[in-house]
Amino acid sequence: MQVAFHDIVGNQCVRRITDDGWFPGEDVKSAGPVEGTAVLRRTAVDQVDVTGTLSVPVEAPCGRCCRDVRLVLDIEFFYRCIVGEDEAGTLQEMECREEDSQTQFLTEPVVDLGALCREQVLLALPARILCSSECKGLCQQCGADLNQGSCSCQPSTDTGPFAALKRLKDNKDRNH
Ligand SMILES: [Zn+2]
Ligand SMILES: [Zn+2]
Repeated sequence: MQVAFHDIVGNQCVRRITDDGWFPGEDVKSAGPVEGTAVLRRTAVDQVDVTGTLSVPVEAPCGRCCRDVRLVLDIEFFYRCIVGEDEAGTLQEMECREEDSQTQFLTEPVVDLGALCREQVLLALPARILCSSECKGLCQQCGADLNQGSCSCQPSTDTGPFAALKRLKDNKDRNH
């Protein structure tokens, strides 16, 4: 999904975004077709501004109970694509303005829409995915899904990774 600067006729063009080859990546499971639109605007001889929206259905395991959760990432993005080197001077100037943090420097006058979209999907993924904020997770002793009901394990405060070791040691001490 690459757009060469010279393909942008009349200084602006609109591209429909589909999941042709750039998605899903290794870290994300697709859960339906991607929908999106990108508007590419030639704002200078060596500069193209890309404004876009993306709707990406993905599937990922709940961080507590491991069940697959389906979520739709709704993304709006802006990139300023400039042909040339990332010169230190311009970068410092740009840090003052939030919107310019999405500046891409290109080695040739071609915008790789797929790469921009892939980056946006990774940025939009929540750090911690939960099936619900109420998710009770799995029992740390028997692995039962506590959303389905409680298990017969005794509630224990010793659930850390060293609890089992400590129990072993306690038994040993008792035998002496
Ligand atoms: Zn869950
Ligand atoms: Zn249990």
